This record gives sequence, structure tokens and C-alpha cells, in this order.
Amino acid sequence: MSKALGLMSGGLDSTLAAMTLLRQGVEVTGISFVTPFFGAAKARIAAEQIGFPLIVENISDVHLEMVKNPKYGYGRNMNPCIDCHAMMFRLAGEVMQREGFDFLFSGEVLGQRPMSQNANALRSVANHSGFPDKVLRPLSAKLLSITPMEETGLVDRERLLDIQGRSRKPQQRYAREWGYPDFPSSGGGCLLTEVGFSNRLRDQLEHKPDSTVIDVELLKVGRQFRLSDKAKLVLGRNQADNEAMERLLGEAGLRLRCNNFSGPLGLLCGQPDETDCELAAGIVASYGKGKDEPRVEVLFRGEGREFSLEVPPATREDCLKWIVS
Ligand code: SF4
Repeated sequence: MSKALGLMSGGLDSTLAAMTLLRQGVEVTGISFVTPFFGAAKARIAAEQIGFPLIVENISDVHLEMVKNPKYGYGRNMNPCIDCHAMMFRLAGEVMQREGFDFLFSGEVLGQRPMSQNANALRSVANHSGFPDKVLRPLSAKLLSITPMEETGLVDRERLLDIQGRSRKPQQRYAREWGYPDFPSSGGGCLLTEVGFSNRLRDQLEHKPDSTVIDVELLKVGRQFRLSDKAKLVLGRNQADNEAMERLLGEAGLRLRCNNFSGPLGLLCGQPDETDCELAAGIVASYGKGKDEPRVEVLFRGEGREFSLEVPPATREDCLKWIVS
């Protein structure tokens, strides 16, 4: 029996690709990656529902470095899909070699995404992965060149599929026919395809090209205000945001809070100067209970400093000028 290792997002396509191989007796294991932009939760559910083992690897650091400078560029937003898929195949390929799998597979569908899943892109992904002869796309295999896995009989080409295009109807039909009626609508929910998050990430990388995974995790939290080239304010919207900021930062970071009024936690990032500090204090004050006071005292604490500024709360109109959305 041949052994295949498949990239699993847990969406319908990757799950169906696994089922296509399972149905012809291939021993299937899934691999799912965790980064700041997507996780393995859906893949875990799919693997459990269908019944195959899943390997989960956190690749946050190496993936972020790729996102900063993708060889094949970005899609509509900050999603470098060709490089991302190639990286996942490369990392999965290392596991394949280490663990003795025969080949790799994915749920990619020819023509489903015009930029990243046309025939050229699928070839680039396989070549760029370092394992061009080990990559199988079971959902579109019959429309693609024959692979060594099919030639040598590791898989039966006749029992692979010929799906192409953007419609999900064929996949839905197979899922129903094969007894998988509760299939998920889409994959892992990659933040890099979202406009709002992409705007935040673009701003972050423009101003801090050497951003870390923690910097990127902070982009998911609260409201973000670009105050100047050197300073940004992150402002919690609620208790969960405040706790997330505390968790991510530990002891680090310059934090802001209103002194005599309740209000959100602010985090001033970068190298803020005096003007940035005043601006940040005004924004923090404007989202607190003292927003209608003429002046509010805002405390700054962290990075070995402690001081306060008394400022007029910024108007909402002013705040919106700085917000990154
Ligand atoms: S959508 Fe996100 S996870 Fe999927 S290939 Fe593109 S960048 Fe990677």
C-alpha cells in the first residue's frame, strides 16, 4: 500500500483530496501548518471526521520571512499563495523523506484561483517546492500531466478526478456521494486574504521590515493608529484585547492608561517622540470615560520609563485620521 502525506487546511478541497486517495486504498496522513495567519483547527476536525492521522507543525518564523518578500509576489491582498504553497510542499517534503511517505498531495484545483492555481502556477509551486516529481493533485489529476506516482502505479490515475474551475458544485457533489454531508464551506480562513488585515500588515512591514511574529500577532488586536513613521498605537477595544496585549507583551512595551478614568489599554510601539506621545495620549483619552473632559491625565509605563501627560482628548474625527483599517 502506498503512503501519501497531504497538505490539509481542513476545507472541502483538501479533505476531498484525502478522501479520493483513501477510497483507492492509499494510506493517507495529513499535515497542517500553524502561522500567525492561519491555524490547524479545521484540519484537526476534518482529520478526525474522516479518520486519518494529522501532523501539525508551527512554522511561524520561516513563514513570516517568506511573507515579507515572496518570490512570486502577492495575490489580491497580502497573500503570497504560490510561495506559500511551495513552502508548505517543501516542508511537507522534508517530513515525507524523514518519515518514509511515497508522495505529497494537496487539494489544489486547476483554475480555481486565476493567479495561484492555473497550470503554470501549479507547476511553479511543484518546482519551487524542491519535490516536483512527488506532488499529486488528486482533484484535477486527470487534467494535468501524468505524474511518476501514476506511472509507477502508486496511485490509479483512473480513480483520480478531473475537477477544474471556480465552481464548488463538483466537490459538493462528491462530498455528498461519498458520505461527507457536513463538509466545511472553505479552508482555514487565511488572514492574508483579508483586506483589513492586509492593510495592517502592509503598514507594519513598510515601517518595520524586520517585524517579528509577536509584532504580527499584535496586528490582530484592537484598533491600530499610525502616528508617524516611527510610532504606532495599539488600543484595546475590550477586556479580551487588553488581555491579549498583556499576554503577547509580557513585561515589554510602553503602555498607556487614563489616570482618573476607566478606559482602554494603549500600547505605543516603535520610537515615539514627544509629539507621538501627546497624540497617543489624546487618542487613549478619547476612548475612555473622560472623553468629554477638557483635559485628561494619561500615564505611560514600561521600557524603564514612567511619566504622565495631561492632554485634551482627541476628537473622533482626529482619531479616524490616524487609524489603519
Ligand atoms: S490563502 Fe493563505 S494559506 Fe492559502 S496559499 Fe494563500 S497565503 Fe497560503
